[in-house]
Amino acid sequence: MNIVLMGLPGAGKGTQAEKIVDQYGIPHISTGDMFRAAIKEGTELGMKAKSFMDNGDLVPDEVTIGIVRERLSKEDCDKGFLLDGFPRTVAQAEALENILSDLNKNIDYVINIDVEKDILLERLTGRRICKSCGATYHLVFNPPSQEGVCDRCGGELYQRADDNAETVQNRLDVNIKQTQPLLSFYEEKGYLRNINGQQDIDVVSAEIDKLLGGLS
Ligand code: AMP
Repeated sequence: MNIVLMGLPGAGKGTQAEKIVDQYGIPHISTGDMFRAAIKEGTELGMKAKSFMDNGDLVPDEVTIGIVRERLSKEDCDKGFLLDGFPRTVAQAEALENILSDLNKNIDYVINIDVEKDILLERLTGRRICKSCGATYHLVFNPPSQEGVCDRCGGELYQRADDNAETVQNRLDVNIKQTQPLLSFYEEKGYLRNINGQQDIDVVSAEIDKLLGGLS
């Protein structure tokens, strides 16, 4: 089960990714998470990525593609994987085709969670994330039972530095511009499946499940 999960920032990708990897037991490969972990650990990769991330810009391809190749080569990806946040450009999608062909793998589905821009702006500025386990919440749409505390692990919730209103605008604009050609690329290849992301989390999840049921 080799899946690419797409959707603009705030479309619910993180939430759906957690559900998919829990249910199907495949590794969740999120380039954003990998960069954030590297920044937290103060590694060379983190130092390279930080200024781009803080501005809401994409980290250069030579850095990003390298970490994805390394990660997909690990043994735990043999039973499948869920890519989240990669590819974000056609150049990255082409690089992914090369990586997968070198590893003798294919993409099964590209799932795109579709949500309008105005709704994304509202969702992103209210987003809160657990410092310990990475679970995502929303102050209005998906609040934790206790303010500031993760339901899953009791960790402290925080707002990502790039979820402030100004950076969010830029992140969305950068993403929309980059995503359109990518969606066309996958549509032409017949991989693309659009899911309406403007529905309850559980409804979106059920639709994805129905789609993936055909793979298991
Ligand atoms: P995300 O958590 O997916 O929203 O990613 C947060 C930030 O990490 C992005 O705004 C980029 O700066 C960087 N990033 C994550 N994935 C990629 C990628 N595939 N290509 C370039 N930059 C990325």
